[in-house]
Amino acid sequence: MTVTDLLFEKLLPILLPLSCLACDRLIDGGRHSLGLCVRCRGRLMPLGADRCAGCGRPLRGFDLPASFRCGSCRRRPRAYDRLIALWAFRPPLDAVIYGLKFQRLESLGLHLAREMAREMADRLRSELAGLDLVVWVPLHWRRHLGRGYNQAERIARPLARELGAPCRRVLVRARATPAQTGLVRARRAANLHGAIRTRRGDWIAGRRILLVDDVTTTGATLDAAATALRAAGAAEITAIAAARTPGIGEPSARKTVIW
Ligand SMILES: [Zn+2]
Ligand SMILES: [Zn+2]
Repeated sequence: MTVTDLLFEKLLPILLPLSCLACDRLIDGGRHSLGLCVRCRGRLMPLGADRCAGCGRPLRGFDLPASFRCGSCRRRPRAYDRLIALWAFRPPLDAVIYGLKFQRLESLGLHLAREMAREMADRLRSELAGLDLVVWVPLHWRRHLGRGYNQAERIARPLARELGAPCRRVLVRARATPAQTGLVRARRAANLHGAIRTRRGDWIAGRRILLVDDVTTTGATLDAAATALRAAGAAEITAIAAARTPGIGEPSARKTVIW
Protein backbone atom coordinates (compact mmCIF):
# COMPACT_ATOMS: atom_id res chain seq x y z
CA MET A 1 0.00 0.00 0.00
CA THR A 2 1.46 3.37 -1.04
CA VAL A 3 1.42 6.45 1.18
CA THR A 4 -1.34 7.97 -0.99
CA ASP A 5 -3.43 4.80 -0.68
CA LEU A 6 -2.88 4.78 3.05
CA LEU A 7 -3.98 8.39 3.27
CA PHE A 8 -7.16 7.81 1.30
CA GLU A 9 -8.00 4.39 2.75
CA LYS A 10 -7.22 4.88 6.40
CA LEU A 11 -6.80 8.49 7.39
CA LEU A 12 -9.23 10.58 5.36
CA PRO A 13 -12.37 8.62 6.30
CA ILE A 14 -11.56 9.33 9.94
CA LEU A 15 -11.84 13.04 9.26
CA LEU A 16 -15.56 12.72 8.67
CA PRO A 17 -17.88 13.49 11.57
CA LEU A 18 -18.91 10.62 13.80
CA SER A 19 -22.56 11.46 13.47
CA CYS A 20 -24.60 11.05 10.28
CA LEU A 21 -24.56 14.18 8.11
CA ALA A 22 -28.25 13.78 7.35
CA CYS A 23 -29.87 12.65 10.62
CA ASP A 24 -27.20 13.27 13.31
CA ARG A 25 -27.37 9.69 14.55
CA LEU A 26 -24.00 8.28 15.69
CA ILE A 27 -22.31 6.22 13.01
CA ASP A 28 -20.80 2.80 13.67
CA GLY A 29 -17.06 3.42 13.03
CA GLY A 30 -16.54 0.79 10.33
CA ARG A 31 -19.43 1.92 8.15
CA HIS A 32 -18.72 5.45 7.17
CA SER A 33 -19.75 5.62 3.54
CA LEU A 34 -20.59 9.20 2.48
CA GLY A 35 -20.70 10.32 6.11
CA LEU A 36 -24.14 8.73 6.39
CA CYS A 37 -25.55 6.12 8.77
CA VAL A 38 -26.63 2.82 7.22
CA ARG A 39 -30.27 3.87 7.25
CA CYS A 40 -29.66 7.18 5.42
CA ARG A 41 -27.22 5.52 3.02
CA GLY A 42 -30.08 3.22 2.01
CA ARG A 43 -32.25 6.24 1.18
CA LEU A 44 -30.05 7.50 -1.69
CA MET A 45 -32.28 7.73 -4.75
CA PRO A 46 -30.64 6.53 -8.00
CA LEU A 47 -32.06 8.30 -11.06
CA GLY A 48 -33.86 5.88 -13.37
CA ALA A 49 -32.91 5.14 -16.96
CA ASP A 50 -35.86 6.92 -18.63
CA ARG A 51 -34.16 10.31 -18.86
CA CYS A 52 -33.06 12.70 -21.56
CA ALA A 53 -29.40 12.04 -22.44
CA GLY A 54 -28.90 15.80 -22.85
CA CYS A 55 -30.36 17.41 -19.72
CA GLY A 56 -31.40 14.49 -17.50
CA ARG A 57 -35.07 15.54 -17.50
CA PRO A 58 -37.30 12.57 -16.62
CA LEU A 59 -39.25 11.19 -19.60
CA ARG A 60 -42.25 9.09 -18.73
CA GLY A 61 -44.19 6.31 -20.30
CA PHE A 62 -41.77 5.12 -22.99
CA ASP A 63 -39.19 2.42 -23.37
CA LEU A 64 -36.56 4.81 -24.70
CA PRO A 65 -33.06 4.17 -26.06
CA ALA A 66 -30.24 5.43 -23.81
CA SER A 67 -29.32 8.18 -26.30
CA PHE A 68 -32.86 9.66 -26.47
CA ARG A 69 -33.09 13.48 -26.10
CA CYS A 70 -36.02 15.70 -25.14
CA GLY A 71 -37.36 18.31 -27.63
CA SER A 72 -35.38 21.16 -26.09
CA CYS A 73 -32.09 19.22 -26.33
CA ARG A 74 -32.84 18.19 -29.92
CA ARG A 75 -33.42 21.83 -30.89
CA ARG A 76 -30.22 22.99 -29.17
CA PRO A 77 -27.86 20.02 -28.87
CA ARG A 78 -25.30 19.97 -26.06
CA ALA A 79 -21.57 19.98 -26.67
CA TYR A 80 -21.24 16.75 -24.68
CA ASP A 81 -22.33 13.37 -26.03
CA ARG A 82 -24.25 12.24 -22.97
CA LEU A 83 -25.05 13.25 -19.43
CA ILE A 84 -24.96 10.76 -16.58
CA ALA A 85 -26.42 11.96 -13.27
CA LEU A 86 -26.34 9.32 -10.59
CA TRP A 87 -28.72 10.38 -7.79
CA ALA A 88 -31.54 12.80 -7.09
CA PHE A 89 -30.42 15.90 -5.21
CA ARG A 90 -32.61 15.42 -2.15
CA PRO A 91 -32.13 14.18 1.41
CA PRO A 92 -29.84 12.57 2.40
CA LEU A 93 -27.54 13.38 -0.57
CA ASP A 94 -28.04 17.15 -0.27
CA ALA A 95 -26.37 16.96 3.17
CA VAL A 96 -23.40 15.10 1.65
CA ILE A 97 -22.97 17.68 -1.13
CA TYR A 98 -23.32 20.49 1.41
CA GLY A 99 -20.61 18.88 3.55
CA LEU A 100 -18.31 18.57 0.54
CA LYS A 101 -18.91 22.13 -0.60
CA PHE A 102 -19.22 24.16 2.55
CA GLN A 103 -18.02 22.18 5.57
CA ARG A 104 -14.52 21.37 4.28
CA LEU A 105 -15.28 17.65 4.33
CA GLU A 106 -13.05 17.05 1.31
CA SER A 107 -12.88 13.30 1.82
CA LEU A 108 -16.55 13.06 0.83
CA GLY A 109 -15.28 13.50 -2.74
CA LEU A 110 -13.49 10.16 -2.44
CA HIS A 111 -16.60 8.50 -1.03
CA LEU A 112 -18.76 9.90 -3.84
CA ALA A 113 -16.25 8.80 -6.49
CA ARG A 114 -16.31 5.23 -5.18
CA GLU A 115 -20.08 5.11 -5.03
CA MET A 116 -20.31 6.58 -8.54
CA ALA A 117 -17.86 4.01 -9.97
CA ARG A 118 -19.87 1.23 -8.32
CA GLU A 119 -23.19 2.61 -9.52
CA MET A 120 -22.08 2.80 -13.18
CA ALA A 121 -19.85 -0.28 -13.22
CA ASP A 122 -21.76 -1.83 -16.15
CA ARG A 123 -21.49 1.30 -18.30
CA LEU A 124 -17.78 1.62 -17.50
CA ARG A 125 -17.24 -1.87 -18.89
CA SER A 126 -19.25 -1.19 -22.05
CA GLU A 127 -19.92 2.24 -23.60
CA LEU A 128 -17.43 4.09 -21.34
CA ALA A 129 -14.59 1.56 -21.57
CA GLY A 130 -11.18 3.00 -22.45
CA LEU A 131 -11.65 6.65 -21.43
CA ASP A 132 -8.50 8.70 -22.10
CA LEU A 133 -8.86 11.52 -19.62
CA VAL A 134 -10.88 12.69 -16.60
CA VAL A 135 -11.36 16.45 -16.11
CA TRP A 136 -13.50 18.58 -13.80
CA VAL A 137 -15.57 21.75 -14.04
CA PRO A 138 -13.31 24.60 -12.85
CA LEU A 139 -14.09 27.19 -10.21
CA HIS A 140 -13.06 30.79 -10.58
CA TRP A 141 -9.79 31.30 -8.66
CA ARG A 142 -11.46 33.62 -6.16
CA ARG A 143 -14.05 31.02 -5.19
CA HIS A 144 -11.36 28.33 -5.19
CA LEU A 145 -9.31 30.44 -2.82
CA GLY A 146 -12.29 31.03 -0.53
CA ARG A 147 -13.17 27.33 -0.32
CA GLY A 148 -9.60 26.05 -0.37
CA TYR A 149 -10.36 23.38 -2.97
CA ASN A 150 -12.65 22.58 -5.89
CA GLN A 151 -15.30 20.04 -4.88
CA ALA A 152 -15.59 18.71 -8.47
CA GLU A 153 -11.83 18.03 -8.53
CA ARG A 154 -12.18 16.21 -5.20
CA ILE A 155 -14.58 13.80 -6.94
CA ALA A 156 -12.73 13.66 -10.29
CA ARG A 157 -9.31 12.65 -8.98
CA PRO A 158 -10.35 9.53 -7.05
CA LEU A 159 -12.87 8.67 -9.79
CA ALA A 160 -9.99 8.72 -12.31
CA ARG A 161 -8.02 6.39 -10.03
CA GLU A 162 -11.02 4.02 -9.90
CA LEU A 163 -11.16 4.07 -13.73
CA GLY A 164 -7.40 3.83 -14.26
CA ALA A 165 -7.44 7.01 -16.40
CA PRO A 166 -5.28 10.14 -16.07
CA CYS A 167 -6.83 13.22 -14.47
CA ARG A 168 -5.58 16.66 -15.49
CA ARG A 169 -6.40 20.33 -15.03
CA VAL A 170 -7.21 21.34 -18.59
CA LEU A 171 -10.20 23.63 -17.87
CA VAL A 172 -9.94 27.08 -16.31
CA ARG A 173 -12.51 29.75 -15.44
CA ALA A 174 -11.70 32.83 -17.48
CA ARG A 175 -14.10 34.97 -15.45
CA ALA A 176 -16.39 34.69 -12.46
CA THR A 177 -20.08 34.08 -13.21
CA PRO A 178 -23.11 35.02 -11.10
CA ALA A 179 -24.99 32.15 -9.42
CA GLN A 180 -27.05 30.07 -11.86
CA THR A 181 -29.82 29.28 -9.42
CA GLY A 182 -33.27 30.28 -10.62
CA LEU A 183 -32.23 31.04 -14.20
CA VAL A 184 -33.86 29.29 -17.15
CA ARG A 185 -31.68 27.41 -19.60
CA ALA A 186 -31.11 30.22 -22.15
CA ARG A 187 -30.12 32.67 -19.40
CA ARG A 188 -27.75 30.11 -17.88
CA ALA A 189 -26.05 29.62 -21.23
CA ALA A 190 -25.68 33.40 -21.76
CA ASN A 191 -24.37 33.76 -18.21
CA LEU A 192 -21.61 31.23 -18.94
CA HIS A 193 -20.67 32.23 -22.48
CA GLY A 194 -16.88 32.26 -22.78
CA ALA A 195 -16.43 31.79 -19.01
CA ILE A 196 -14.57 28.46 -19.34
CA ARG A 197 -11.39 28.03 -21.39
CA THR A 198 -8.95 25.20 -21.99
CA ARG A 199 -5.21 24.82 -21.52
CA ARG A 200 -2.92 22.10 -22.88
CA GLY A 201 -4.84 21.35 -26.05
CA ASP A 202 -2.43 18.47 -26.71
CA TRP A 203 -4.04 16.59 -23.80
CA ILE A 204 -7.53 17.19 -25.22
CA ALA A 205 -7.39 16.75 -29.01
CA GLY A 206 -8.72 13.39 -30.18
CA ARG A 207 -9.37 12.15 -26.62
CA ARG A 208 -12.40 10.46 -25.04
CA ILE A 209 -13.06 12.57 -21.97
CA LEU A 210 -15.09 12.22 -18.77
CA LEU A 211 -16.13 15.65 -17.47
CA VAL A 212 -17.01 15.69 -13.76
CA ASP A 213 -19.15 18.03 -11.65
CA ASP A 214 -20.78 17.58 -8.25
CA VAL A 215 -24.32 18.78 -9.03
CA THR A 216 -26.14 19.66 -12.25
CA THR A 217 -29.54 21.16 -12.95
CA THR A 218 -30.00 21.87 -16.67
CA GLY A 219 -26.49 20.80 -17.67
CA ALA A 220 -25.61 24.40 -18.64
CA THR A 221 -22.27 24.55 -16.80
CA LEU A 222 -21.28 21.11 -18.08
CA ASP A 223 -22.30 22.27 -21.57
CA ALA A 224 -20.10 25.38 -21.31
CA ALA A 225 -17.13 23.26 -20.20
CA ALA A 226 -17.84 20.71 -22.97
CA THR A 227 -18.04 23.50 -25.55
CA ALA A 228 -14.49 24.53 -24.63
CA LEU A 229 -13.28 20.91 -24.76
CA ARG A 230 -14.97 20.38 -28.12
CA ALA A 231 -13.33 23.53 -29.52
CA ALA A 232 -9.98 22.07 -28.43
CA GLY A 233 -10.73 18.91 -30.45
CA ALA A 234 -12.11 16.43 -27.87
CA ALA A 235 -13.34 13.31 -29.69
CA GLU A 236 -16.03 12.27 -27.18
CA ILE A 237 -17.29 13.87 -23.98
CA THR A 238 -19.32 12.17 -21.28
CA ALA A 239 -20.57 14.59 -18.64
CA ILE A 240 -21.15 13.15 -15.20
CA ALA A 241 -22.59 14.60 -12.00
CA ALA A 242 -23.15 12.91 -8.64
CA ALA A 243 -26.50 14.62 -8.22
CA ARG A 244 -29.15 16.30 -10.32
CA THR A 245 -31.63 18.89 -9.10
CA PRO A 246 -34.99 19.07 -10.87
CA GLY A 247 -35.11 21.93 -13.41
CA ILE A 248 -37.73 24.69 -13.47
CA GLY A 249 -41.14 23.21 -14.24
CA GLU A 250 -40.19 19.64 -13.32
CA PRO A 251 -41.96 17.76 -10.53
CA SER A 252 -40.62 18.67 -7.06
CA ALA A 253 -38.53 21.56 -8.45
CA ARG A 254 -40.00 23.99 -5.95
CA LYS A 255 -39.22 21.76 -2.98
CA THR A 256 -35.50 21.64 -3.81
CA VAL A 257 -33.32 24.05 -1.89
CA ILE A 258 -30.09 24.94 -3.71
CA TRP A 259 -27.40 27.11 -2.23
ZN1 LIG B 1 -28.55 9.04 9.10
ZN1 LIG C 1 -33.16 17.28 -22.54
